[in-house]
Amino acid sequence: MTKITIAKGDGIGPEIMAATLDIILAAGAQLEIDEIEVGEKVYLAGNPSGIASESWDTIRKNKIFLKSPITTPQGGGYKSLNVTTRKFLGLYSNVRPCMSLHPFVSTKHPVMDLVIVRENEEDLYAGIEHQQTDEVVQCLKLISRPGCEKIVRYAFEYAKQQNRKKVTCFTKDNIMKQTDGLFHKVFDEIAKEYPEIENEHWIIDIGAAKLADTPEVFDVIVMPNLYGDVLSDVAAQITGSVGLAGSANIGEECSMFEAIHGSAPTIAGQNVANPSGLLQGAVMMLNHIGQTEIAEKVQNAWLKTLEDGHHTEDIFKEGTSKVKLGTKEFAKAVIANLGQKPSLLKAVSYANNSALILPKYQRKPAANKKLVGVDVFVQWNGTNPNELADKIKLIENNGIKLNMITNRGIKVWPEGFKETFCTDHWRCRFKSEESSELQKTDIIALLTNAINHNIDTIKTENLYEFDGKAAYSLGQGQ
Ligand code: NAD
Repeated sequence: MTKITIAKGDGIGPEIMAATLDIILAAGAQLEIDEIEVGEKVYLAGNPSGIASESWDTIRKNKIFLKSPITTPQGGGYKSLNVTTRKFLGLYSNVRPCMSLHPFVSTKHPVMDLVIVRENEEDLYAGIEHQQTDEVVQCLKLISRPGCEKIVRYAFEYAKQQNRKKVTCFTKDNIMKQTDGLFHKVFDEIAKEYPEIENEHWIIDIGAAKLADTPEVFDVIVMPNLYGDVLSDVAAQITGSVGLAGSANIGEECSMFEAIHGSAPTIAGQNVANPSGLLQGAVMMLNHIGQTEIAEKVQNAWLKTLEDGHHTEDIFKEGTSKVKLGTKEFAKAVIANLGQKPSLLKAVSYANNSALILPKYQRKPAANKKLVGVDVFVQWNGTNPNELADKIKLIENNGIKLNMITNRGIKVWPEGFKETFCTDHWRCRFKSEESSELQKTDIIALLTNAINHNIDTIKTENLYEFDGKAAYSLGQGQ
């Protein structure tokens, strides 16, 4: 018997949760269920995180959370409960299998069977955003070595467990050499530990195009958070419907299982929603808690039901489908098929499918870190970078000189192009002469000079060398 927490959520949430629980309990799942309330009602009762603190206690105690979609009210500063839950509970890995059910569910990609493993905690989802000048806002993209190592290792261990042959990595490291560059580098390092699994890297733009066009060439794909968010919806949709896919959010202690779609408020309360997405989440949950036989029984009955042409409205197609069923009736059809297997679709076997146990991240010895310069960002409403350079040079200190000015990353001084469009947000790069080591007090002196010369500084970024290697990007065009 495993104790789990459930939340029925909003919109179609209660209907698909009822259907899912009916099916898995009928299959013999050994569960003790604690229910909590999350979502719209909790938000509107004045809790901006959509969840009460006692509910966190329940989730943390039970460790396993099956969650229906929720409605996040628009505007008003409400924080996404999904993002908060993933990060609070350290659910670093988001696993989304996307498989075609051809010819029973209409799809342009009949042989597609891939799994997206998405990093779930960092990247642009750190949600650290600031307006810096009248014209420019920024969002911080944070990628960490532990984050990369954990997710890449998870992808390879998952591939090994599931007998999958290849792990592909998607990044945009031709542009983001530090952040996506780290993800790619860690991928290459860890791939070497799994010689039996093929590995490859694609630049995300062409990778995404290939995924939408020829998904059958992919097996497991691992990627940073934002790309994974977007592309896992694309992948689920092109199998036939977003209503068919579930997702597992896995952490070292806790896990959350859900459908990938939202609360579909326009069809709520009408007994038409497809419960398959949440059911797929529940199947992953059963595997995770070691009830693999039940998971297998549910999955095979579900495949048989789809194969029989018993479909909910979202996937119902004249000619392919046989009977259009409501949410409750679909659940009954799956229950009636428990113990049976599909004949044309491949029946599943979950012999060794329980939770993956990965080694804990080991912090590496610290590198030799040397401060060699500073980027000072300033707001300035002029348009000619040469004029700005003349002003900025006045604040140079002994041994720390203006090296470059960029605007939105592109070098505009020295030797910029007059065609380059400039905003009011300028980065002035100062470097020590011959890369000698600077002290933080040198930066304070520089900023004090800036104040004395009426220069509007917004923020600074230190320029470091780690073990003698420059660890900052060059200006575009430098
Ligand atoms: P949605 O996924 O709810 O709906 C998109 C479309 O797919 C709609 O046409 C809907 O009717 C249909 N659809 C979705 N699930 C279906 C199902 N199971 N069966 C049949 N049809 C289904 O996306 P949305 O409309 O952009 O968002 C609605 C709300 O859900 C928003 O408040 C959003 O914030 C929230 N949301 C929640 C989650 C979550 O809790 N995990 C995820 C995404 C969106």
